[in-house]
Amino acid sequence: MPYAEIDWTDDKTPRANQFGDIYFSVENGLAESTHVFVNQNFLPERFKALKEDATQRHFVIAETGFGSGLNFIAAYIAWTEAGLADSCHRLTFISTEKFPLSPDDFARFSTLWPEQQAIYNKLQCAYPALLNGQQTLLIDENVKINLLIGDASSTLADIDLTVDAWFLDGFAPSKNPDMWSDALFSEIARLSQPGTTYATFTSARVVKDALKGAGFQVRKCKGFGRKREMCYGEILLDEQQARHAPLISTQCEKPWHVRPSKTLLDKTAIVVGAGLAGAHTAYNLANRGWRVTVIESNEAPANGASGNKQGVIYTKPSSHGSKEDDFYMQCFQFAIQHYQHLSERFELTGIESLWRQDGLLQLAYSDKDRVRLKSAYEHLKDSNLVEWLTAEQASELSGLKLHYPALWFKSSGWVQPRLTTMTLLEHPLITLATDKHLNELTQESSGGWVASCKNKNNSVIEYTAAICVLTNAWQAKDIHQAKHLNLRPVRGQVSSIPANKLAHNLKTAICSDSYVTPALHNELNFGASFYNDQTSTEVTDKDHQDNLNKLQAISDDLKPKASADISISGRAAVRCITNDRLPVVGPLNNHDFMVSYYEMLKRDKNWQFSEPESAQFYNGLYCNLGFASKGLTTIPLCTEYLCNLIEGKLLNFDLTLRESLSSSRFTIKPLIKGKI
Ligand code: SAM
Repeated sequence: MPYAEIDWTDDKTPRANQFGDIYFSVENGLAESTHVFVNQNFLPERFKALKEDATQRHFVIAETGFGSGLNFIAAYIAWTEAGLADSCHRLTFISTEKFPLSPDDFARFSTLWPEQQAIYNKLQCAYPALLNGQQTLLIDENVKINLLIGDASSTLADIDLTVDAWFLDGFAPSKNPDMWSDALFSEIARLSQPGTTYATFTSARVVKDALKGAGFQVRKCKGFGRKREMCYGEILLDEQQARHAPLISTQCEKPWHVRPSKTLLDKTAIVVGAGLAGAHTAYNLANRGWRVTVIESNEAPANGASGNKQGVIYTKPSSHGSKEDDFYMQCFQFAIQHYQHLSERFELTGIESLWRQDGLLQLAYSDKDRVRLKSAYEHLKDSNLVEWLTAEQASELSGLKLHYPALWFKSSGWVQPRLTTMTLLEHPLITLATDKHLNELTQESSGGWVASCKNKNNSVIEYTAAICVLTNAWQAKDIHQAKHLNLRPVRGQVSSIPANKLAHNLKTAICSDSYVTPALHNELNFGASFYNDQTSTEVTDKDHQDNLNKLQAISDDLKPKASADISISGRAAVRCITNDRLPVVGPLNNHDFMVSYYEMLKRDKNWQFSEPESAQFYNGLYCNLGFASKGLTTIPLCTEYLCNLIEGKLLNFDLTLRESLSSSRFTIKPLIKGKI
């Protein structure tokens, strides 16, 4: 994605070279944003009313042209002034951007508003270093920005939700007609409903005509500063015309990915599995006001890999930049913000920090890896996300003598997975039911789900809720509805040694073909072994030895003076992997139904089907599974996506990624290949 080219000749009013126009008024940009976008959308009054309203907890603003985020700042000030900052109300700010500011330019813009530094700091911390596809910026737990990178018309065509207020802020229509096209206005109208308002700084004829053509009322008032007029108004649809947005975007082409919209019975959920994915799912839903029962077959949560003491936030970029890289990079950038927010929130309640931002070195420890990491670096170097370090520089940063060059991710770090899982489950709207082994899931005629579980004493206990989410990793394969997902177990053992014996001064996380994290509670944790299709959780000497060998290959400083010096302990757990290594997130498809409905694909993979079928997904049954060894990095954003999808909110992955994560792929791909 090309960054914006900024002309800083006049450093108070930076200019976009691609358009020959300025970002905001020369007089006072922030006052202009407030006058035009905040006040003419009546946000102060509407936010105040929202605060009083217990039924309506979510407000959506959408903008054309994110630029320096100044309009967001103005809206956030109004949000805070209305007393909504730490409330249960949620603000989603969607913005489109074809030429995002580079992180350096973004930082420079933020210095223009020293009096707003506190808010700009939040925005700058969340501003992604690498901008490909949709980006989710976490400002506060309940305030998020969804930045749609690309042309406004096509990125808006990929989303479906109802917007409450529009900020129409492309450059002047004469300089940038694309931002005022009929195509764009028809997307804006599609995403509006009665009560949706808009405001724009311009009153150019072409804009007024386009607005009227799309069904908006056009009112005029005094513009900001020397501007004579600006426009604002509401959409003029009546209730009959208003279309309730379906869950899926208008761009979806493949019928087997089209999901029916779920009519929510009530906000109750069963989450199966109390690991990191289950805890995140339950916590995210509970934060949105859902009552959640988490069913766990073991006697305590965090029994699988989520029970490890430490884990690294990492992504392994490919040499060429792929769609999968975009997925992992979006997850990586979101995970860092997410753990930072969680840590700050829970530290206030006296819980020790869940994460530390010590940075991560990815060692180029083999010729193959050196080639891959060097090309990945070339691909990413404009982003500020990574640096290429010589072995000497890497040694200095880590505190160990290293023999390999490395990619340095300074914003990364390590998390305490077990502590995170336990802490998330403490939410007052979450009930944890341990020692409950799920036998069967059935759907009631009313649409709700019944989880029939075996108790410790073999008696049967049933839980009922409007929806059910499978987060129980490879064990989900035992549930009839999820058999076709081919979830495979992967055994992994981590090892620990007392840190005072070895590398107690390790300062960063390091990944090679294994990982090691800085000491925690005087323990050095490292690993992990990786055995496909093994489910034993017995801790073995062989795995300890393998882990030690890999650890010691990282640096001579990690070799003990004598092997007797080491007292080693560890734990083994089973992770879950899919056959294409991507997670499965979203509604669960009805495999048997799809096999018969899409049978023609066996003969012709391009066969055209007239209509997608609503029965192709189990209504109200979802999964959040298959995170393999990257769960710490991918679970936070995948969970956000899943919960948005459940609630019919903005889907924060674009179409290609949604299809890559969909459960339908485990039916359709084998069908096309003739394997079913
Ligand atoms: N709202 C911004 C702020 O608060 O700083 C200022 C927006 S500036 C006037 C217009 C923005 O629209 C620029 O950042 C520009 O890169 C972006 N833009 C221009 N054409 C676009 C298009 N076709 N699709 C998406 N964004 C576009």
